[in-house]
Amino acid sequence: MNQADNIIVMGKSGAGKQPRVDVLIRRFGLKQLSTGDIFRTYLGLFNELGDESDLNSFYDSASDNFIPDEAIKNKLNISHWEDADAIVLGLKAKYYVNQGLFVPDHITNALFESAFQALGFRGAVLDGFPRTIDQARFLVEMIEREGIKIDAILLIENEDELIIARTVGRRICRTCGELYHVEHRPPPMPGNCEFESPKCKIIQRSDDTVRSLEARLQEFQTKTRPAIEYLQEQKIPFYSAPGNLPTYAPEAVQASVFEVMQISG
Ligand code: ADP
Ligand code: ZN
Repeated sequence: MNQADNIIVMGKSGAGKQPRVDVLIRRFGLKQLSTGDIFRTYLGLFNELGDESDLNSFYDSASDNFIPDEAIKNKLNISHWEDADAIVLGLKAKYYVNQGLFVPDHITNALFESAFQALGFRGAVLDGFPRTIDQARFLVEMIEREGIKIDAILLIENEDELIIARTVGRRICRTCGELYHVEHRPPPMPGNCEFESPKCKIIQRSDDTVRSLEARLQEFQTKTRPAIEYLQEQKIPFYSAPGNLPTYAPEAVQASVFEVMQISG
C-alpha cells in the first residue's frame, strides 16, 4: 500500500487506536475523523450552559425516549437561542457517552455523514465509525452511492484486562489534549502538564471510569463484533494489529502498523 484515500481504524475502547491513527495520518497525509470527538464537541456546548439537572429528567422511561426537543429547550431556557438544536444534541450525547453506551445509530450516522461530506468523502482516517452493523450498512451504501474509496480496515486487537488497567489510569490535559497515565506516563507535576500554559489542567475524562468502560467493552462485544464480521464480507482489505507491544516507543508502533498493512516506509 502506497497511497490511501480513506482508512477505517476499529478496536475496543482503549485498545490503543490513537497512536495507530497517528501513524496513518502522517504516512498518508490524512485527517482524523472521530465520532468520539464529534460527540465531545456537542457535549462541550451543553456543558458550557452549566446546567446541573439530572439528565434522566430529560428522558421519559415510559416511551424509552427523550422528551420532545421543544420541551428540552424550555427546561434549559434556550428556546430562542440560535444553537439550541446543537445544545440539545450535546445533552443527548452526554446522556449516552457518560454511561459508556453507544449513541443511537440515527444520530451517529447523520453526524458522521455530514462530517465526511465536508471532507469531500476523501482523505480521512475513520476513527470510531462504524461501530454497529446498522452503521456499517449505512457506510457501505454511502460508498456505493458516492463512489467512495476505502483502502483498508485496520482492527486493533487488545485484551479487556489490559484495557481496563490502562484506561482507568488515563489522564488528559483538558487544554492541550496531551495524554498521560498515572503509572506509565505521569504528568511532570500532579495536575499540571508538560506544555504548562496557565490554563493547562490534567483531568480524567468523565467516561474513563470502570463502570463506563465495562459498558463500552460490552457494547463492543454485542454490537461492534457483528459489524466487523459484516465488513469482513465486503471487498475492503482487512488487517489486524496488536494494541499491546513490548515497548511503546513511537517507532515500534509505526513498524507494527507498516508490517501488518504492508506499507513501505
Ligand atoms: P474510546 O476512547 O472509548 O474509543 P471514543 O472517543 O471513540 O471512545 O468515543 C467516546 C464515546 O462516544 C463512546 O463511548 C460512545 O458513547 C460514543 N461513540 C463514539 N463513536 C460512536 C459510534 N460510532 N456509535 C455510537 N456511539 C459512539
Ligand atoms: Zn496541557
